[in-house]
Amino acid sequence: MGNIIDGKVISEKIKDQVKKELELLKSKGITPKLVAVSVGENPASIVYMNQQKKNCEKIGINYEILQLPENISEIELCDNIEKLNKNQDVTGIILQLPLPKGIDSRKVQSKIAPEKDVEGVNPSNMGWILYGRAIIGPCTALAVKEIIEYTGVNLYGKEVVMVGHSDIVGKPVALLLVDKFATVSICHIGTFDAGKLEEHVKRAEILIVAVGKANLIPGDWIKEGAIVIDVGINKVGDKIVGDVEFDKAKERASWITPVPGGVGPVTTAILLRNIVVLTKMQKGV
Ligand code: NAP
Repeated sequence: MGNIIDGKVISEKIKDQVKKELELLKSKGITPKLVAVSVGENPASIVYMNQQKKNCEKIGINYEILQLPENISEIELCDNIEKLNKNQDVTGIILQLPLPKGIDSRKVQSKIAPEKDVEGVNPSNMGWILYGRAIIGPCTALAVKEIIEYTGVNLYGKEVVMVGHSDIVGKPVALLLVDKFATVSICHIGTFDAGKLEEHVKRAEILIVAVGKANLIPGDWIKEGAIVIDVGINKVGDKIVGDVEFDKAKERASWITPVPGGVGPVTTAILLRNIVVLTKMQKGV
């Protein structure tokens, strides 16, 4: 049976480092401040923001919500972002998604100043990943990299299969791992529809799945000894499960993340780290 990766352990390690950085900032009279920009009322966003607020305040980061009306125009929303960009007290900005229909979220994200873009979603920060010179990046993608490093595996020449090609998870993960000289295949709906997902997954020495479909990956597809990182979050009845059939997969994997308790807590810690990294950059610390 494989080692089950406890995301909370990795998360605590990251948070310990964040605490040290916050003490350093505090000694210079600096407290990071994150502003979450929320448009309209979205129950999922409210839960998410309450969680962010709790995590930030617990560690010593100021947190504020800028609540904007549902009927705001794209231009007005961008103006609000610009104001936050110029506000010296604000060191981080998060744009809560989804935005109301008719607003181009990518366009609005591109207005967040790269040095305040704590989720790494501005095209500039994404571009630095492409160049192999990431300063920060999307939290979940960095969390996946962090977890893989935690296993101690040498990525050089390893067969990595990334299932899912979203802008914030699949694509940046693939780029981050290619830079470590892994051989990365990216699978998506086209791979699935062509009936080729199984053959790709079966040869993966490191498998990362970020799709959002419960049990998409049957446990018996996992290569013996593979590292399995399950990013997916799915509600099945009253249970939260990942995209991988965990009970069977853990018998074959050398390392595997559970859902919940795997990628999620690490992602949360990376957000805190991104806030501190960018605050330090802005304040020249
Ligand atoms: P997304 O934007 O919906 O992307 C899903 C990806 O899966 C797309 O590339 C999609 O391809 C692909 N796909 C869909 N059906 C497929 C299939 N049958 N076979 C192979 N690929 C398929 O989602 P996301 O934002 O990347 O999130 C993915 C999952 O991770 C969700 O469950 C989300 O809740 C979870 N998540 C967890 C965390 C965390 O911290 N733990 C953070 C972020 C996301 P097409 O676009 O071509 O259809």
